[in-house]
Amino acid sequence: MRRHVVLGREAQLRTDKIPNCSAGMWSQGLLKFRYKPYLLRQQAVHRMEIDGKSAGSLVEDAVVWANQHGLVVALKDSRFINPDFAVIHAPLSLMPVPYPRGRFELAQQVMPLFNGLVDAVAADEAYLEGTLGPAALYDTFTGRLLKTLQATRAARAALREAGREVVLGVHRSDYMLDEPSGKFLQVELNTIASSFGCLSALMTRLHLYMASRLPFLEPSRLPANPTLEHIPDAIAAAANAVGFREEGGVVVMVVQPGERNAYDQQWIQLGLWERHRLRTVRMTLGDIAATAKLDEAGGGTVTLQTGEPVCVFYFRAGYTPTDYPSEAEWAARKLIEQSNAAKCPTVAYQLAGTKKIQQDLARPGVLEKFIRDDRDAALLREFFAGLWSLDPKDVATDPGVAAAVADAISRPEAYVLKPQREGGGNNLYGEELRDTLKAGGERLSAYILMQRILPPANRSVLVRNGQWSESETLSELGIYGTFVRHGNNLLLNEQSGHLVRTKTSTSNEGGVAAGFAVLDSPYLLD
Ligand code: ADP
Ligand code: MG
Repeated sequence: MRRHVVLGREAQLRTDKIPNCSAGMWSQGLLKFRYKPYLLRQQAVHRMEIDGKSAGSLVEDAVVWANQHGLVVALKDSRFINPDFAVIHAPLSLMPVPYPRGRFELAQQVMPLFNGLVDAVAADEAYLEGTLGPAALYDTFTGRLLKTLQATRAARAALREAGREVVLGVHRSDYMLDEPSGKFLQVELNTIASSFGCLSALMTRLHLYMASRLPFLEPSRLPANPTLEHIPDAIAAAANAVGFREEGGVVVMVVQPGERNAYDQQWIQLGLWERHRLRTVRMTLGDIAATAKLDEAGGGTVTLQTGEPVCVFYFRAGYTPTDYPSEAEWAARKLIEQSNAAKCPTVAYQLAGTKKIQQDLARPGVLEKFIRDDRDAALLREFFAGLWSLDPKDVATDPGVAAAVADAISRPEAYVLKPQREGGGNNLYGEELRDTLKAGGERLSAYILMQRILPPANRSVLVRNGQWSESETLSELGIYGTFVRHGNNLLLNEQSGHLVRTKTSTSNEGGVAAGFAVLDSPYLLD
């Protein structure tokens, strides 16, 4: 049986612009896709038709390929003797998702500018404190990070003066293609624990394998995805700047206990070893508090129980309050912050990636304080969605803010309400958003209001736990950026690959780890 794809928003279809395609182009045996290029405000997008019956054998091959090539997550099934070593393929999309090439390449090109923006914002601690202060009054986690920033200021200044400041950024800027405007609008800019980089590179390889099997998929339309090389190379560059070549040492990957996504992280560890002979030690903040020693008098070197110095602390934890169950974890964070190791991220980088800062940068003139070149600033602004402060002072004094709040109360479906949280599942939508805005009050200082981005709907085959289903879907693109600076010496600043996450169009949230989305990859159309 052929399951016909329901085309959303038919009104947008400009039939006069559809090129003629011979029927023979589309019949490909196993799985039938029909790409219908059409113009959507200059954006070419695909729709497809899937022969439901025959997708099964392709799914089976994709799952086997994923298991064979390490595109896996831990199963955490207690029936296994050691659940950590039982794995299953990562949730994935069988076919890549169409994106307009021009917009995609622009998002890649601006990534070094976003890296530079984070570095500039993080360096302006007065700005961070001033902007986050009101939110911190009602958000104790942000408040605690600000306190750590203040408590470590002297140690960090001493390190900088001694020419030993090494900064490492591994960022991911997330976007959705906004159908009404045709632009990629930024969802958020992640500066801590940007995950799935390595599994995403494997996802690209899986789709290249699919393209080798299915002649109507052109491999040249799947862009290169160098995360497996770039992320370890950036960490190694920071380790070398700290002194790994001369003095040895290890990378500490700061992890959550019982991490299910450890295989994505292990790919970085393998890259660090195979490409740079750099060893990684996985530790929780609790482990660090219990065993690591900071030599304050001797220039801030942290040593582990083994006596090895730490060159880099790379965080895949520490972004959510539950990562700090006791004072010990905060003590570990402070110790790391005072150390002469490179931290990915520093507390300042983490704060620069908060949603409140994202909102504040979008205010007229603020971004421009950090990005001096007018054209660069204008280019970045092309990616900004509508963002509004909910600080009662701003609502009272800024007519634009008041109008947005009133509009959100009457049309909540056009907005998203976000607290200062990372990791998925925290945003408010619909009735909850309306009720929270109506209740008002000072505590709203810890939230921001954001324009809802409206991505075009696609049709995807989603594969989870070896089972597939066909759904109407929305996709989110992430571009990775790596950045290394030693004092005033910029060692690295580049675009380092991408991630696409696809979710059913009925789901508000989009995290893969949180179970909302699957891994995907972009298929570029001109
Ligand atoms: P988190 O730090 O929890 O990842 P995000 O800002 O990325 O927070 O929001 C989580 C998810 O919510 C996103 O992956 C996306 O699917 C959805 N989302 C967030 N902001 C918007 C928006 N402005 N428009 C539409 N969807 C959004
Ligand atoms: Mg996110």
